[in-house]
Amino acid sequence: MKLTFLGTGTSTGVPSIGCECETCTSNDPRDKRLRVSILIEHGGQSVLVDTSSDFRQQALRYGLKRLDAVLITHCHADHIFGLDDIRPLNFRFGALGLYANERAWVDIRRIFTYIFEPSHFGGGLPQVIPHIVLPEASFCLGGDLTVTPLEVIHGRLPVMAYRFNDFAYATDLSEIPKGTIEAMRDLDVLALDCLRFDKHPTHLWLDKALEYIEELKPKRTYLTHIAHDVMHARDSAKLPNGVEWAYDGLEVEG
Ligand SMILES: [Zn+2]
Ligand SMILES: [Zn+2]
Ligand SMILES: [Zn+2]
Repeated sequence: MKLTFLGTGTSTGVPSIGCECETCTSNDPRDKRLRVSILIEHGGQSVLVDTSSDFRQQALRYGLKRLDAVLITHCHADHIFGLDDIRPLNFRFGALGLYANERAWVDIRRIFTYIFEPSHFGGGLPQVIPHIVLPEASFCLGGDLTVTPLEVIHGRLPVMAYRFNDFAYATDLSEIPKGTIEAMRDLDVLALDCLRFDKHPTHLWLDKALEYIEELKPKRTYLTHIAHDVMHARDSAKLPNGVEWAYDGLEVEG
């Protein structure tokens, strides 16, 4: 299995517009973070998690040729606003399975009304095949990739994390419910939300993320959805063994 971090930044991206802090002015490419998204490749399947507001740029940068499915964590702008840019893939390969929980589907249908209730003539529309995911109701993509949607809490909003065989991606969360903890054991790789060092009401911060890592004991953890408070080189020493800051373009295999 291969996981590629297409974006690792918080909702504003890093650098943040107009900011002159040490991270935002850094020349280290690992401090340049597009909005969060990952690509999972396994058994001939390519699965995207979230169509971020930077999706087009990410697809071009990483040479994305094909997708087999798109999974959505939740409908905040940074995770969904790139949906229109799946059209070139539709033109070539037809409609694409789009997986989201029921609450996210309400928002997707509202934000992208034009996709579901086309009212004008002309212009290509995204073509999606809607699938509703339920917590812990696993499904298979291809023969070999088992996807398990898992519920985590983002402030007050229940959002989906996803387990792919022994990899898991859990972003935009402040709490992992007990049932989900049990479903996240024995992981080879965990990609986990970690916004910054200071507490935050809707995201994990470093100490809280490390508590969950201690409890879940994945073999390797990569922190993502990172704000400009974190400078990659400067702050890597603050992480224990087996835990790293993710960065855009990082590929993890296992
Ligand atoms: Zn977000
Ligand atoms: Zn900054
Ligand atoms: Zn969010």
